Amino acid sequence: MIIFKHSGDLRYYLSRNNNSTALKGFVPTMGALHEGHLSLIEQCKTQTDLTICSIFVNPTQFNNPTDFEKYPITVEKDITFLEKSGCDILFLPDEKEIYPDNASRNKYFELGYLETILEGKFRPGHFQGVCSVIENLLNIVNPDYLFIGQKDFQQCLVIKELITLLQRETKIVVCPTLREANGLALSSRNLRLNDSEKLVASELYQRLVQIKNQLTISNFLILKSKAISYLEDRGFKIEYLELAKSKNLELVTKIDLNESLVILVAAFLNEVRLIDNVLIN
Ligand code: AMP
Repeated sequence: MIIFKHSGDLRYYLSRNNNSTALKGFVPTMGALHEGHLSLIEQCKTQTDLTICSIFVNPTQFNNPTDFEKYPITVEKDITFLEKSGCDILFLPDEKEIYPDNASRNKYFELGYLETILEGKFRPGHFQGVCSVIENLLNIVNPDYLFIGQKDFQQCLVIKELITLLQRETKIVVCPTLREANGLALSSRNLRLNDSEKLVASELYQRLVQIKNQLTISNFLILKSKAISYLEDRGFKIEYLELAKSKNLELVTKIDLNESLVILVAAFLNEVRLIDNVLIN
């Protein structure tokens, strides 16, 4: 695996090795890598000829400074992990490489409704930061394929919208969420939970599955309120638990059998913010 710290070097390398038929795949991450990230790398390796991963803890997407300060950093371990995974290139930039000036940091993206609900509502500015970093990374890597996780469901829709806004050809591959045996979605933030908190954290997914299994045409609000009280009794602070159309996240309370839906949740367990979702097809 070749490691690049400077965008100019990576650009130069990619242009020198530009075989027009070779497909470039890109997996952007914030590090503290786990098997979920690895599944994206594996998917990338099967679908493309060159697998590029980036690790950059993007300050502009953190609306909460403590969350940014406490974000786990395990670079040495990540490098070993990526080497074993067969990743071809790791891009490990610092902030100046991604945001050389204010313009590259503060560009505004018109995300409309998507930015007003769920993560957008509870994390003001978060998706602007996501779009800034992804645009800047795409300009450097210029991949044919971009691999992202369903775990960050709303982020997937935002990135699809960004690709449209930027009129890019990059194809997006959304990969399924990897979980612990008890259902807890793998997340870098889980490093901030101790073993007993992890056990409690798995309740989040279990409640989503329970709602999915018990859902009838019009009982969502009842199931939602039961799930929220159950989770609050176990120490969660719920930010949202909603049912929405999976194509655009329009919030609904009743099932339309012709629509693919998704249940999404965000909650704090102690200081740690967790998100998860399940699809209902
Ligand atoms: P992050 O490092 O948290 O920014 O995540 C980098 C990418 O990995 C994003 O596209 C995430 O959606 C994806 N990802 C994070 N956790 C998981 C998981 N448990 N399973 C699959 N993909 C994931």
